[in-house]
Amino acid sequence: MIVVMKQRATDEMVQLVASRIESMGLKAHVIVGTERTVIAAIGEKRNGEQETLSGLDEVDKVVPILAPYKVASRETKDEPTTVRALDLVLGGGHIGVIAGPCSVESEQQILESARAVQAAGATGLRGGAFKPRTSPYSFQGLKEEGLKLLAAAREETGLAVVTEVMTPEHVALVGAYADVLQIGARNMQNYHLLQAVGETDKPVLLKRGPSASIDEFLLAAEYILDQGNPHVVLCERGIRSFETHTRFTLPLATVPYLRERTHLPIVIDPSHGTGIASLVPTMAAAAVAADCDGLIIEVHPDPAEALSDGAQSLTPEQFNDTMTRCRSVAEAVGRTI
Ligand code: PEP
Ligand code: MN
Repeated sequence: MIVVMKQRATDEMVQLVASRIESMGLKAHVIVGTERTVIAAIGEKRNGEQETLSGLDEVDKVVPILAPYKVASRETKDEPTTVRALDLVLGGGHIGVIAGPCSVESEQQILESARAVQAAGATGLRGGAFKPRTSPYSFQGLKEEGLKLLAAAREETGLAVVTEVMTPEHVALVGAYADVLQIGARNMQNYHLLQAVGETDKPVLLKRGPSASIDEFLLAAEYILDQGNPHVVLCERGIRSFETHTRFTLPLATVPYLRERTHLPIVIDPSHGTGIASLVPTMAAAAVAADCDGLIIEVHPDPAEALSDGAQSLTPEQFNDTMTRCRSVAEAVGRTI
């Protein structure tokens, strides 16, 4: 249920109603909007709560939330959410760009990447230190050493560090270095991990599982939100289909579809979405035209030598051209990058 407070309701009144909701065995998520405050009352419905809450003086009305993802739904919060980490801004009419290598490989590689993507206009630096690889024999990442190198790159450039956390046990460690915690596609339904990042106050970039439906994707986001972390960003990175020409199939209709259902910012990953570097610039520009809130793009100083995902990584020069192209599209659709 959504408990819509009267416009004149004070913070104290909101807290009183929230406690009343909690005393009914429901969870109260207070959402402060520009117009008025609403409280999402989440949990197993019993009898009479709606009537009791509508009867309270400070309450304007109580409406049921129909979507299964309660806090993520636009029914609960129509106003779009903006997620920020240092100078990286995702949402609110601004398109934030996160770029960098698939994996952190060495000090020189990450620093060179960071300098290049920053010069081209990115405000977020990506780079995996803990890598989820299909084969156990592939490069698994530099782990904590990689996190330290990312922090050094942030120190020099001011870019916000976006890096993956693979297990609940590593959330504190990765959180000590990262500005944004990435949940990889393979872990989208790792519910303990989702809850663990939900207990932090770090922004979370949640990637869609390659076989997950949009409802499953939004319910995964709900696991994070339900723990009290409101800084969730959804990332479409391509799904599995019968088509094998591209690594995955990148459905850009995800952006307007999600936009109708959720207030959370939506990022597109054209690198994993296609798996082919030459297709990335066009799909990045198309994502901007489709009204995304951010892009995450793999860039490597020397893609041919990359330890992971070289085939889909742009050179710094190609990334710079992609940014120029995306900027013109953004301008045409009334957005900034
Ligand atoms: C990555 O970002 O390098 C990555 C492993 O992505 P995904 O989880 O989308 O496969
Ligand atoms: Mn990758």
